[in-house]
Amino acid sequence: MDDRDGKIWQDGKLVEWRDAKIHVLTHSLHYGMAVFEGVRAYKTAQGTAIFRLEEHTRRLFNSAKIFQMQIPFDFETVMEAQRQVVRENKLESCYIRPLAWIGSEKLGVSAKGNTIHVAVAAWEWGAYLGEEGLSKGIRVKTSSYARHHPNVMLVRAKASGNYINSILANQEALADGYDEALLLDTDGYVSEGSGENFFMIKNGKLYTPDLASCLDGITRDAVLTLARDHGIDVIEKRITRDEVYCCDEAFFTGTAAEITPIRELDNRQIGSGSRGQVTEKLQQLFFKVVAGEDPRYQHWLAHV
Ligand code: PMP
Repeated sequence: MDDRDGKIWQDGKLVEWRDAKIHVLTHSLHYGMAVFEGVRAYKTAQGTAIFRLEEHTRRLFNSAKIFQMQIPFDFETVMEAQRQVVRENKLESCYIRPLAWIGSEKLGVSAKGNTIHVAVAAWEWGAYLGEEGLSKGIRVKTSSYARHHPNVMLVRAKASGNYINSILANQEALADGYDEALLLDTDGYVSEGSGENFFMIKNGKLYTPDLASCLDGITRDAVLTLARDHGIDVIEKRITRDEVYCCDEAFFTGTAAEITPIRELDNRQIGSGSRGQVTEKLQQLFFKVVAGEDPRYQHWLAHV
């Protein structure tokens, strides 16, 4: 991904894509403490708009706060950097990746005194779990790796180091022929996917795990809001894997994954074994919102 045309916003200015580099002794590269976001922009009739830009930027600043990393740019500058990379790279719809990391001044475990840096890149990225995944659903395997205990890693932060656990789970699932992993928490309850929040539907009600061990997903919040606004009962509670085996529908949500139906967990067919009706309805609502076609949710769109 590194040798191509385009611009990346790095520490306050736009640099050539292929020149956006850092030193090998960068603290974050060695110890994994960096924070990032995954954001999407969509084409709308009024031009390209970033979905929930403010909420993503707030989560980035909160992630940094959790690790006592002082982002050296103000909130508005980081928001504008995201709009700018979309404009400068002439992207109609894309994925945006803001990242804040610790510099290379010292390499001891203590990062105290090291500089904090920020970059924002944007590129075209289609359906994360495949177009067919969006329409037909994916096959998922419960991971042998547990999601982080909240007193081991701080899961409210979207932190680079947290994703070692995600990569282990995802690698294992893919090696076994599945599309994605479902991670349980350290008590054995459903937590989330390697990069997605989890939902299931039973008797017309929508269930999702509470936020104890999973990321406070912005798509999760959008889906909960859309469901409530359309009269679907929403319940946040602990969920067991056998409840999932016997549910009517299940899906993952995420900025990259959007709303991806789950058609199988651990070789048990979920519901009819394809995208369920409620899932499809929520997908339709969601894709209308991000495309700017639903006036009630215009406040979620930031035009670039
Ligand atoms: N959980 C994890 C572990 C993730 O990486 C993501 C993707 N950011 C999500 C959930 C979904 O969060 P969001 O909807 O804010 O993208």
